[in-house]
Amino acid sequence: MSRLDLSDQAKKILDRETQALEREAAVLEEKATSAASVLTAVCGLMNSRGRYFAVTGEHFSVQDYDGLMVIDFLDEQVLKHAYRILKNYVEHENRRPNEIGISIIAEKLLPSIKEMPKYPVGYRLLYTIRKAFEQFESVIGSGSGVDVAELEGAFVHHILGVIDKYVQTRVRHGVRHFSEVAREYDFVTRMKCKCGDGQFQVKLQALVQEEGKAYDRLDLECKACGHQRSITFDLPNFKDLYES
Ligand SMILES: [Zn+2]
Repeated sequence: MSRLDLSDQAKKILDRETQALEREAAVLEEKATSAASVLTAVCGLMNSRGRYFAVTGEHFSVQDYDGLMVIDFLDEQVLKHAYRILKNYVEHENRRPNEIGISIIAEKLLPSIKEMPKYPVGYRLLYTIRKAFEQFESVIGSGSGVDVAELEGAFVHHILGVIDKYVQTRVRHGVRHFSEVAREYDFVTRMKCKCGDGQFQVKLQALVQEEGKAYDRLDLECKACGHQRSITFDLPNFKDLYES
């Protein structure tokens, strides 16, 4: 994600919170030895969103470039850590999930997954996963006849599948381009102009190459007051992001 135009304060928050997430993820991962504790780890990571949202909000509007960039980048980090913890557990466990458990979870949870856009931005995915956890609680509560540990195992596979689908839109060549464009336009819809409520429209989108680096530049105009500004997005290597 672009750090090109971020203010020093935004970079500072980003660095500090990225490190905090890494430490948290390491602690959670160490304890993630069962399906239940893997789910606890994913929840713990998602709960840290409250903290970095508050920290960022102290300095920036979460409707402006710096604030949105910091939050989006940290959301990606949360997903990256969750993905790694889920994947490592599933690979290490190397066991097919309970078939009935999988079908129960798919039946209850798939509708909300289907509501997700084709190229979701991190926060949309986190919202969907949060909702899936709530629905999972009600599956447990409704007494399906399947052992809770088996259901948890099936749910781990389900969440991994959801995040994996998202990761593929970020790392696969050809698809990534559409994912980037969708992300940039989504970003713009969340921005508000300083005039008050004005939303921006994209006047021009351009790929810029500079000193061996490529980035997207979007020229924006406020629909209300006509204020013009440009914002930039790095075209990052998300493959690295998820394989590191
Ligand atoms: Zn305006």
